[in-house]
Amino acid sequence: MSDRYASFANSGPGRALVKRLGLPTPPVLRRYHPGDPLVTGPVMLAGAPGGRLDGPVRKMLTIAGVALDGGPRWSALVFDATGIVDAAGLHPLYEFFHANARSLTAGGRVIVLGTPPAACSSPREATAQRALEGLTRSIGKEFGRGMTAQLVYVEPGAEEFTDSTMRFLLSGRSAYVSGQVIRIGQVSSSPLTDWDHPLEGKVALVTGAAQGIGAAIARVLARDCARVVVLDVPAAGEALARVANEIGGHALQLDLTRPDAPSTLAAQLLSRHGKVDIVVHNAGITRDKTIAKMSAEQWDAVIDVNLASQERINDALIPLLPEGGRIISVSSTSGIAGNRGQTNYATSKAGVIGLVQSMAPILAPQGVTINAVAPGFIETRMTARMPLAAREVGRRMNSMSQGGLPVDVAETIAWLAAPGSAGVTGNVVRVCGQMWLGA
Ligand code: NAD
Repeated sequence: MSDRYASFANSGPGRALVKRLGLPTPPVLRRYHPGDPLVTGPVMLAGAPGGRLDGPVRKMLTIAGVALDGGPRWSALVFDATGIVDAAGLHPLYEFFHANARSLTAGGRVIVLGTPPAACSSPREATAQRALEGLTRSIGKEFGRGMTAQLVYVEPGAEEFTDSTMRFLLSGRSAYVSGQVIRIGQVSSSPLTDWDHPLEGKVALVTGAAQGIGAAIARVLARDCARVVVLDVPAAGEALARVANEIGGHALQLDLTRPDAPSTLAAQLLSRHGKVDIVVHNAGITRDKTIAKMSAEQWDAVIDVNLASQERINDALIPLLPEGGRIISVSSTSGIAGNRGQTNYATSKAGVIGLVQSMAPILAPQGVTINAVAPGFIETRMTARMPLAAREVGRRMNSMSQGGLPVDVAETIAWLAAPGSAGVTGNVVRVCGQMWLGA
């Protein structure tokens, strides 16, 4: 779906008019294309005294071929805040970002590294580490020009497992992800990742893949070398076959709400591929009405497709997942902030967050991770059907002044699916351009 305002605001005459009227100019986001370098210039890495991540992150960035000196313009500012143990210790953050805010190039990245408050050794330290959220979220709202800002909490002992997340956040793959808090935990070992073909040898299932976000997820996972099984309802069979042909994948026509869907799916995956490594629960529906006007059918259908079917499919597929398996569920910012006319949808999508958070510790001993991505306003048929005013509000009320693209959700899922992301579990990552509504 095209965003005519963004095209106009970035055209010659449009730019001048939009500026005169004081309207936002949506920046052209730096998105990933195969062969792109990780970053567009040198990265400044600094930190507060006593931090534990400078060494491992410096080593990781050097191996990734990132220049750590140069300037005066930087493509990313990375600050190791793990040495901060009290409120007074927050001052170096001011010094660093005050001095360097203007040296970040358009589409640049800010990453602050901290210690999860729950893993801190004193209340003062936990307080200071929690304070980092306010800093990063505000920088995301302040910097503009397509820049993003994130806080990455790295558990003590997980210092060597930041690669996959750092690469995602620095690259154009995270173009529409900003203001997020990501937690990296300890893992017993993290297999070496071939960064060009991270999903080589993996079998991935993507539900609801005939169109929109699901089709984009299938394309990106196939680009990253997974064998992809695309699933959708029989009525979407033709579109599904087109996606499968395009990516050399396997199309499976199945309504997920059928009682036999979990067993049919497990049997198909085993007979055709012998296994499944990555499960992406993307299929979803809306049946919007205020709760007073909503029928019981509208409530039940949304809860069943968006939430209960994920639980039933998990029950059937978790026993098939090997060590290194991945489950990624698509939630929504509506499930975080709530949305008028979407009690059923927001309930189902908040439930997805509960599912991921409650299952993460249960699956950890099996070496399986489970995470959720929560898209905000993404340019798809679902959002094209919204009334004009609501659509424009959704597009502009975020730090990027524009909607995201299906590929932005897909890239986030590909990062979570990668072998190097073994330490990332139980996370909920919004792909919303830092939407102004909700936490
Ligand atoms: P879409 O309607 O374009 O695609 C959803 C797909 O799911 C369709 O192909 C549909 O046929 C399939 N599906 C529905 N019920 C099914 C069932 N019972 N069995 C099998 N397949 C079924 O939607 P989209 O915009 O691409 O959204 C994809 C996911 O992202 C959904 O979970 C949606 O809730 C979520 N999401 C979308 C947005 C957005 O802005 N578009 C925002 C937040 C979350």
